[in-house]
Amino acid sequence: MVNKNLKRREFLQGVGAGTLAASLVGCSASSSGTSGKTLAKTAFQRPFSRKPMVAPKISANNIVTEIVGHRPYRPEGFVVNSEVFGNKTLVHNYGHGGGGISLSWGSSALAVNEVANSEIKEAAIIGSGVMGLTTARLLQEAGWKVTLYTKAMPRFTTSQVAGGEWGPYSVHDPLLSSLAFKSQLQQAAKIAHGTFAKMVGSDYGIQWKELYTAVNTKPDDEGPFRQFYPYTQVLGPNEHPFPTNYCISSLTMLIETTTFLRRLVSDIKLFGGEFVIREFHDQDDIHSLSQSVLFNCTGLGSRALFNDEGILPAKGQLVLLPPDPAVDYLTVGGGTGSLYMFSRNDYMILGGTFKPGDWSTEPEPIETARILSESQAFFSLI
Ligand SMILES: Cc1cc2nc3c(=O)[nH]c(=O)nc-3n(C[C@H](O)[C@H](O)[C@H](O)COP(=O)(O)OP(=O)(O)OC[C@H]3O[C@@H](n4cnc5c(N)ncnc54)[C@H](O)[C@@H]3O)c2cc1C
Repeated sequence: MVNKNLKRREFLQGVGAGTLAASLVGCSASSSGTSGKTLAKTAFQRPFSRKPMVAPKISANNIVTEIVGHRPYRPEGFVVNSEVFGNKTLVHNYGHGGGGISLSWGSSALAVNEVANSEIKEAAIIGSGVMGLTTARLLQEAGWKVTLYTKAMPRFTTSQVAGGEWGPYSVHDPLLSSLAFKSQLQQAAKIAHGTFAKMVGSDYGIQWKELYTAVNTKPDDEGPFRQFYPYTQVLGPNEHPFPTNYCISSLTMLIETTTFLRRLVSDIKLFGGEFVIREFHDQDDIHSLSQSVLFNCTGLGSRALFNDEGILPAKGQLVLLPPDPAVDYLTVGGGTGSLYMFSRNDYMILGGTFKPGDWSTEPEPIETARILSESQAFFSLI
């Protein structure tokens, strides 16, 4: 399932929600424990908030639960396009890897744009993860009537599992994706970021947070998404409390998926949208829908439904601890790969893993132990 090249690239890139974040500001993410740093425990004053940093309390005794999700990872990049589908129009919007929450409004805006000139204003949307829900809302805003057909309601989707940091990372393999895709990604990121920024507030579960990205290599350029991270500042070896050479301090948005998805569902219903629980087994099933404009927002489901063998599950495992209001920031980096801590109102999330081709759905005790011990080490100087 996973070819050798993919494995090699995974190693080279340290793929995962956080580690790619580092590469996008022009440096390689930390992949080893320490850099020989000798900083003594000290009160670190955070550059943006000017507040001292409080370390999270991490212990196996306080785990609330462990969860697993499969990122719909397409090394060539996500698919947004339309095709003639018998006597219907079918718009695809799937394959967003580890960045689907971040890209949602943007990717869905590009998808909806595919039928901007349609005289028919009634659509069937297949899938009710973040792509299906944002597609539905954008269509409604443009005056469409929508019905969402889905195997599972949002609470049981990959979208609900996501940590929710705004960052379009681990979305594609830059060695395999085309220039046209990279430009589409920038476009989607820009629209999505602008939309989320206008929705900040507890009603949609969106807030600005300080983000600390720990890296060993000195960041040497701006990176393609630098513009979306206000107050970015690189802290040198003795200017931060993490066991890496450098740390990038910036601001980002955190989207609490539990609140965000729930709110989108109620908005869709408020504007007359309907949800139908239905699993599609093949394309004949899809042809049987009465609507003549269809949106495919099935994420990983597109592999079987549309024979897209280019899409893989990238297994992610998260450890959830109770929320801790004193820890009001996010970190990415450290450990042996994909380590991150997102402090949310519902949980403190410790991640994670990024395993392309792994279809297993159970949390792995060995990964939980690694995430806990590496996280403890990561925060040990605070
Ligand atoms: C551990 C983890 C952490 C993540 N962290 C982040 C993050 O911090 N930031 C970020 O931006 N992204 C993150 N992501 C990625 C993000 O979760 C995904 O990119 C995004 O959820 C994909 O959304 P989607 O709507 O395409 O797919 P899904 O959420 O999987 O929704 C697919 C929908 O299609 C339906 N469906 C599928 N097949 C069928 C079928 N045959 N018939 C009917 N319905 C069907 C499903 O029931 C579901 O409703 C993370 C993912 C994981 C797993």
